[in-house]
Amino acid sequence: MSGLEDKLAAASLEPAEQPKKKPSLFGKKKKKSFATKLTQERPPEKQATKPKAVQQPTTFKAADYASSARRGADVSAQNNCSLEALGVALYAARAFREAFERATGSSPVADALREVLKGVSKNEIPSSQNEALRQALSTRGGAISAAFAYADAAEVLELLLDALESDLEKWSRPCTSVGYQLVRQPCLLCGDSSRAGAMNEKRDVRAFPVIAASILHLLESASTPQTFADLFREARASEPVSCTACGERACAVGGEMETVAPVLVVNLTWMETPSSSSIAQLVRGALLPFDAAVAFGGGSEGMYQCVAVVCFKGDHYTAYARPPPSSVDLRYPPRWTLRDRFVDRGSGDVEWLLGELATAKPKLPALLVYVRV
Ligand SMILES: [Zn+2]
Repeated sequence: MSGLEDKLAAASLEPAEQPKKKPSLFGKKKKKSFATKLTQERPPEKQATKPKAVQQPTTFKAADYASSARRGADVSAQNNCSLEALGVALYAARAFREAFERATGSSPVADALREVLKGVSKNEIPSSQNEALRQALSTRGGAISAAFAYADAAEVLELLLDALESDLEKWSRPCTSVGYQLVRQPCLLCGDSSRAGAMNEKRDVRAFPVIAASILHLLESASTPQTFADLFREARASEPVSCTACGERACAVGGEMETVAPVLVVNLTWMETPSSSSIAQLVRGALLPFDAAVAFGGGSEGMYQCVAVVCFKGDHYTAYARPPPSSVDLRYPPRWTLRDRFVDRGSGDVEWLLGELATAKPKLPALLVYVRV
């Protein structure tokens, strides 16, 4: 299976639907809006005219690798950027860092990661440590070991977390959400609840796959603006199933989580390059605090704040990271810093970040790293 197929398979762990307007049974609930919150922060801007979406394939073919090879791209460099960006993003998640410091045990992967994070903490450029980490991970397979392969950041993260889980002791698995399952609700029409309840076994989830187009579709079709938590839940929502009593497709199915990880990673999957205004709209919402109870239900709780965005553009991953959330954020908005191959390439506020991503050829946010606040 190709990497993309893997991703799609992962994304369909729950039957995530392609953008489709869902019939509303009892009308739309009034949603809390981004817009309301945003206007409290800054005056609304005039809506820019919407540029036409650039249709561009964002899947990667053998021809792309071949052209990289012809350009004489550095193999290790090409394969290292996903790890470099992950190093920066995981460092930004203090709960990950602290869990990693508390864990004991030594292995090539764990030791190399310690060195990478130490380098990031000192604002150094731990490229050789990162290469050591890549080599240690390579022995575990995956695209990261192959020349000119495209090492997808979400796959590399899974590989890294697998390694830490098997190599470390007292590892609290800070990126693992526990007890996810699909739950069927009683029939909305006749109230029959004989088949309501869990539809599958509980399972653990690390990065949550979400098809970006589903979120954009919801953003653009909703009459009232929605929070990212709403969008996140709806983009992953399953179609209602048929009621065994009345025969109507009126039994809602939702994914419920028992415990959401202290470090929540959202993996946005892009099938095509969206317009820059769509990216800006999505990221603006994603950077506001995220309510896990809304996004996951099932008794999960906590507010989450995005601290790092791993982006992809032109065969290359970079990371934007901000300092840990604190109570002074309201008065002093956080500064985001771009790190490209660990090198500081500039920083600014949220508007600056949006300007960086939402260019004519947008940078695609691939991983959003949230911490509980
Ligand atoms: Zn029914």
